[in-house]
Amino acid sequence: MITRVVQIPMRTRFRGITTRQAMLVRGEAGWGEFSPFLDYSGAELVPWRRAALEAAHVGFPPPVRDRVPVNVTVPAVDAATAHRIVTASGCTTAKVKVAEPGQTVSDDLDRVEAVRDALGPGGRIRVDANGGWDIATATDNLRMLGRFGLEYAEQPCRTTEELAALRRDLARRGIDVPIAADESIRRSGDPERVVRLEAADVAVLKVQPLGGVRACLRLAESLGLPVVVSSALDTSVGLRAGIALAAALPELRYACGLNTAALFTDDVASPSLIARDGYLPVGEVSVDEVALDRLQPDTDTVEFWHRRWDETALLDAAVRAAREDR
Ligand SMILES: [Mg+2]
Repeated sequence: MITRVVQIPMRTRFRGITTRQAMLVRGEAGWGEFSPFLDYSGAELVPWRRAALEAAHVGFPPPVRDRVPVNVTVPAVDAATAHRIVTASGCTTAKVKVAEPGQTVSDDLDRVEAVRDALGPGGRIRVDANGGWDIATATDNLRMLGRFGLEYAEQPCRTTEELAALRRDLARRGIDVPIAADESIRRSGDPERVVRLEAADVAVLKVQPLGGVRACLRLAESLGLPVVVSSALDTSVGLRAGIALAAALPELRYACGLNTAALFTDDVASPSLIARDGYLPVGEVSVDEVALDRLQPDTDTVEFWHRRWDETALLDAAVRAAREDR
C-alpha cells in the first residue's frame, strides 16, 4: 500500500490549529485519509483507520444523487471578515463558529449578524459552539442569537445530558432553536444515547471518527434523526468519503459541512473540492503527486504518522479479538 503524509497550512486558526496534518493511503479502490487530530489517542483512532481502509480497499456505496449541497464554514473571525467569507462562497447556508475561548457573546452576535446580512433573509445559519456553553449560558445566548434566525445550534453544551436538559429548557421558554449533536455522536462512545435522552433534533455524522461510510449509513438508520454530514477538517481525499456518505443517504434535508477545503491555503487534489454555487460534485477526486511532494512535512512528522498508523492497527486487532472473545 502506498502511503503519504501531508501538512497543509490553514487560512485562519480553526479548532485551535493552524496547520492540518494527514496520512493518505492508497489501495486498489483509491485513496483513503487517516487524519485524527493530534489531541486524539488510543482506541479513539481505530475508526479513523477503518475509514481510510474502506476508502482505499473497498470504495464507496452507489450514490443516489450527483451533487451535495454544502455550507460555508465561518471561523471565529471578526464581522467584516465573516461577511466577506460568506459572500465569496456562493453558499446559501453558513455554519458559524461561536463560543470561541477568549471571545464573548457580543463577538458571536456581531459575527452572526454579519452573516445574516451577507446571506439575506432566505439564507440558513447554523452555529457551532463545540460544547463551549453551560445550560444557562446556552439558553441566554441562543435566545439572543435566535433573533437572526437559526437553522440549528450544534453541540451548544458538552454532554448529552446537558443537551437534553437545554432542549427542554428552550422548549419551555419558547425559544425555537433546534439542537444538533456532533461530539455527542462521534466522541461519547454511545451515539444512541442522543436518541434515548431526546437530546437532539439533528445528528452530525463524520466519516473518519465514526469508522467509514458504511458504518455511518448504518448509524444514520439506527438513529432515525435527520443527518448532516460534516468533515473533520479533511483534505479533499477525506472530503470525498464525506461526499460519498451524503450521496448515499436515502434522505438529505440539510446542507453538509463538507466545504472545509476552503479553510486551507493548499490541497492534495487538483482541482480542490471547493463548492461552486453551494454544491460539491459527487465523483472521484484527482490526487496531485506534485502537491503531495510540496506538502510533505519533515521526517519526524512523517515517522510520527507511520507510527500512529501502525499502533492503531495493533489496537484495532485487539478490539476485534476482544469482540470475538465475548
Ligand atoms: Mg461541530
